Amino acid sequence: MLLTPGLAAPLTAPTQARSDQAGPPGSPAPQHVAILGGGAAGVSTAYFLRTRYPEAVDSGRLHIHLLEPSPSLGGNIRSLATDIPCSGRTFGPQTLRLASPQSLLVLGLVDELGLAGHAMTTRQASLSSGMVLGGEPLLMSARGLNRRFADDLLGLNLGSLGTGLAAIARAALEPVIPGRGAAAAGQAPEDDETIDEFARRRLGRLMAAGPMSAMAHGVYAGDSRQLSMRSCFGQLVRIEQHHGRLLGAGLVPFSVSDRHTVHERLPGLVASLLDGGPGVGLREDFRSPVQAYLSRTPAALVDPVDLAAISLLGQFPLFTGAPLKGVPWTRKRSPFTGEDPTELALSVLRVGPKRVLSLRPDRANDRAPGPSDEAAIPPAVHGNQALVDRMAHILKGSPNVHIHLGTGPLSVDRPGPGGPKYRVSAGSAVSVPADHLVCAAPAGSLADTLAPALPGLAGALAAVGATNAKVTVVSLLARGREPFSRTDTLGYLWPAGEQEDSILGVVLNSDIFSEHTPSNVFQATVMLGGHMPPPEDPVASSLHRVRQLTGLDLADPRLELDLAQWTGAIPQYTRGHHHRLVDLAGRAAGERVHFVGSAFTGVAVPQVLTSAFMAARGIAAELGLHEGLLAGVDGQAGLGYHLRPWDTFAELAAVTP
Ligand SMILES: Cc1cc2nc3c(=O)[nH]c(=O)nc-3n(C[C@H](O)[C@H](O)[C@H](O)COP(=O)(O)OP(=O)(O)OC[C@H]3O[C@@H](n4cnc5c(N)ncnc54)[C@H](O)[C@@H]3O)c2cc1C
Repeated sequence: MLLTPGLAAPLTAPTQARSDQAGPPGSPAPQHVAILGGGAAGVSTAYFLRTRYPEAVDSGRLHIHLLEPSPSLGGNIRSLATDIPCSGRTFGPQTLRLASPQSLLVLGLVDELGLAGHAMTTRQASLSSGMVLGGEPLLMSARGLNRRFADDLLGLNLGSLGTGLAAIARAALEPVIPGRGAAAAGQAPEDDETIDEFARRRLGRLMAAGPMSAMAHGVYAGDSRQLSMRSCFGQLVRIEQHHGRLLGAGLVPFSVSDRHTVHERLPGLVASLLDGGPGVGLREDFRSPVQAYLSRTPAALVDPVDLAAISLLGQFPLFTGAPLKGVPWTRKRSPFTGEDPTELALSVLRVGPKRVLSLRPDRANDRAPGPSDEAAIPPAVHGNQALVDRMAHILKGSPNVHIHLGTGPLSVDRPGPGGPKYRVSAGSAVSVPADHLVCAAPAGSLADTLAPALPGLAGALAAVGATNAKVTVVSLLARGREPFSRTDTLGYLWPAGEQEDSILGVVLNSDIFSEHTPSNVFQATVMLGGHMPPPEDPVASSLHRVRQLTGLDLADPRLELDLAQWTGAIPQYTRGHHHRLVDLAGRAAGERVHFVGSAFTGVAVPQVLTSAFMAARGIAAELGLHEGLLAGVDGQAGLGYHLRPWDTFAELAAVTP
């Protein structure tokens, strides 16, 4: 391992030329993978390559170079421990949603990184999200709506009552609004609707301006009138395409009372695996939890491609046997605990999918903060950042993995005949050969980095990365002498029409994980800015908004405040994003360049990890490390899997023995 400590410190020798690193005589020439960007996407691509193809890395056939211009790994994932049990400060992802089968990948990772004991998941009761409408908090549940109607009625607030009833009446017509068929999937650029257009057409103007605008704020910090429905909430688009409507078509859970219903809704491959076959089937201990999981999962949230691909490729041991020819089946054990990574998954499967997960930090004063460099000691856990810290810990202890931190701006060129395909450099200090590139950084920034080697990609990358949302995060923590009262909600979002101070939303951290948080501690995280102007006084706005939601006046000395400002943190998938990706993938075809992470195909951490997993798989296929049976999954330019998920599933099914 070569750790280049940063520009300010003296640099260790540049990475040696590839000829110095050849394996034993007769062995294939070593291959070098350069990963540009050390956020969750880059670190996990390196980790999946390292842990899923250990022989190739250990033998020196595969060298992994992880290059990060800033002095630390993690990108947008940043969290700190506090001296209060279970209470960290989280400036990036607050919670990881466990609603999609991609969460199996997250759970597998959490477990194999030895973090299962730190996993906090929500109680079923605390699932409701809220929204601020008409200046008042509204819980998006039957109870919350009833309460609002009752309040409006008793307060003779007839305008608000009428608006609420009109919104629900219009949304109830949704099943009879004709679907757009193939056009719904946005195959042609002109068919790509914004979130607002899609929501107006299907659910009506009031739902578009309220919940859908709030959702765009909550996930993308973006403007629902600019963002592409297909790229941001593609599952709903696919449901309309296949069923002609949303309500009653995939937004209801599977029924396990009739197994045929499950089978009809799950495409053939997964259904046949549920039944088992010669030497193939669900592990016995998973059979009933998986059935229960499916019975509680709205079909809209089950992406069979993810379930099949992730499970079958051995990431997560749902199945016995080797379901696909040539795909090795290995049961992973945690490198930290040596345990079979099933217990956490079983517990989550038992409770159901509508949950979120967050990593409980160690207490700051129990252990020195910061990842440990000592190979034997796993780094302290300070919240969700531990996912990256633990993967980095494994990478740092690994031969033939080279981590270059604090490189400053990177540049990729082509060294010419006889040399490697690419060379990645930063001034005269870093010079790394690369046969394969993984681009795990914001697209706009990559346009400059790749321009010398791949000028044809620069324009396409600049177009993909044209818009990013800045987010201001205010973390509030108060300790009281008395217990704080709790609400039953994850937090509240503000739609665009409710704006005064560029507020996006408030996450009520201590309420989400109330059973883990001391009762005299209140914690909330406020997000502001996004596509709106930067907030003038984010702290004052945050205190005001928390008071509006909870009645708590936190402007007293018990309060601890932290503020983080992310510039360009959340890529904006505006109308036409999918077609810009297709253009990029076409230009990159055959160049051994993979694009992973939030800049391209999904901003939530589970999606980022999935793209990294698939890129590692694609590189392994290019290297001939497996038979490459799954052409669609192995991807074209690292994007194929994400661009064509339903076709990919058909290919998966076709190769099933
Ligand atoms: C405030 C906030 C709240 C969020 N909340 C949630 C949540 O609750 N749940 C959830 O699932 N997700 C959430 N997310 C999203 C999630 O954090 C990100 O999608 C994820 O961390 C992105 O990882 P990444 O590696 O793709 O990108 P990044 O984290 O952006 O990492 C990219 C890395 O590339 C480096 N880099 C930049 N330019 C170059 C270059 N030219 N060459 C090489 N390297 C370069 C950067 O320094 C950085 O380290 C949130 C994000 C933010 C900002």
